[in-house]
Amino acid sequence: MSSKDTAIQAHGVYKRFKTGRTHIEVLKRVDFDARHGEVTMVMGPSGSGKSTLVASLSGLLKPDEGHVTALGQEIWKLRSGKLDRFRLDHCGFIFQGFNLFSALTALQQVEIILKHQGLAKREAREKAARALTEVGLEKRMNQRPSELSGGEKQRVAIARALAKDPRLIFADEPTSALDGENGQIVIKLLQRAAKQHGAAVICVTHDPRLEAYADRVIHLEDGLILDDRRAAPVAPAAHNPAHELVGA
Ligand code: ADP
Ligand code: MG
Repeated sequence: MSSKDTAIQAHGVYKRFKTGRTHIEVLKRVDFDARHGEVTMVMGPSGSGKSTLVASLSGLLKPDEGHVTALGQEIWKLRSGKLDRFRLDHCGFIFQGFNLFSALTALQQVEIILKHQGLAKREAREKAARALTEVGLEKRMNQRPSELSGGEKQRVAIARALAKDPRLIFADEPTSALDGENGQIVIKLLQRAAKQHGAAVICVTHDPRLEAYADRVIHLEDGLILDDRRAAPVAPAAHNPAHELVGA
């Protein structure tokens, strides 16, 4: 499989919410796609429908209309048990609020997901430890969330999402509770998941500092995609004949 293969394709995604007697249209028939090996950033003002879009793409919230095909499966046609299994096997989630269990150590947070997926105890433990080491938390494995900084907590959440090597990673404002430095660590880890593991990373943010890490930036406004840009390819280093003279 080429790393540029389409991971998700969505057509005509429409979602509205009832508020009192009226409805508000939150997604107005959005078309969307994302590829393996790429970080696709979804940006836009608060309330523009970013979280609703990502929830519709990831099997968390059923749209009223439209189709979402992820890894070749039309996810909203799956029965709910199958959809749960699809998410467990193929999707990693990272949210703004970390969503960690307060009673569990960093190692246990990651381990529990792998066990739930069906891994044997020992294998789950080893894999969890590797994932935490990959995010630089090898010395924090036995600490609980209350004993970790915000940046460390988010790295635990990332280790938990990445431990199962998911093909699809969904991150909703993963850096907004973090300072710039920790935000950069987090986005670089997501980028590595795309570049080294071929995951399709879909990252919602309104942090313009993250744009530099995107392969593609999609702007959502008022439930519609207004703009869809690819990052300019990095120019090859200019040919400099002077270098060839050195030591010649
Ligand atoms: P964003 O993530 O871009 O800030 P959201 O997708 O969270 O936007 O929300 C878009 C709009 O839909 C907002 O106006 C929000 O209030 C509304 N909304 C989201 N979820 C619900 C819900 N469960 N019930 C009613 N309105 C909702
Ligand atoms: Mg949101």
